Amino acid sequence: MRPLLLDFKRTIRAEQCRAHGARLARFHKWKVVSPCPVTAAVRHLKKLCMTLKKRGKHWYGDDQADIRVELSRYSDLNGYPIDDFADVQCKCGNDEFYFFTDEDEGVAVRRCIKCGDEHMMGDSAEFAEHAEIGQHECNCEANVFQITVGVHRYRNQDDSLSNDVRWLYLGCRCSSCGLVGCYADWKNEYNGYEKLLAMM
Ligand SMILES: [Zn+2]
Ligand SMILES: [Zn+2]
Repeated sequence: MRPLLLDFKRTIRAEQCRAHGARLARFHKWKVVSPCPVTAAVRHLKKLCMTLKKRGKHWYGDDQADIRVELSRYSDLNGYPIDDFADVQCKCGNDEFYFFTDEDEGVAVRRCIKCGDEHMMGDSAEFAEHAEIGQHECNCEANVFQITVGVHRYRNQDDSLSNDVRWLYLGCRCSSCGLVGCYADWKNEYNGYEKLLAMM
């Protein structure tokens, strides 16, 4: 049943989980059959009841655009200022989510509060296997957020912007109290920032 390696690689490259749209290639390199990384991560997530809170100073905003202001401030201080943003929207059109991350593994999951769709954000599925995901909670104890993503890109030798990502930021605005903040950030070296932002 196991195909020749070359054929196998070709097969898996095109393969996607029908339920989640996650790319399975890296997870299939050593196994012919392996569970969808999203499913695995969601199982993890259901087992864990960790609660993460926003760190640092508190800023409040009236709408999603305020997340960009706060992320810009944060990313400047971090030394990798944001070049491009994306406001996250569910496929159902809703923009409010429960939000889960594992900052060490570089994994972020959002669950739409309206349709329940669970989505591994960006390239998270590639790193989900060992992730221990915690749910974010606002300081006001609400847990529904709007989410905006920012990326810093590498610079070419002539100082122009590369298309490749260097650092990723995930910012939230609490739907209850308006608190905005950077909830997670990590080194992310995805090739092609537009594609990464489109997968958020
Ligand atoms: Zn939805
Ligand atoms: Zn709040």
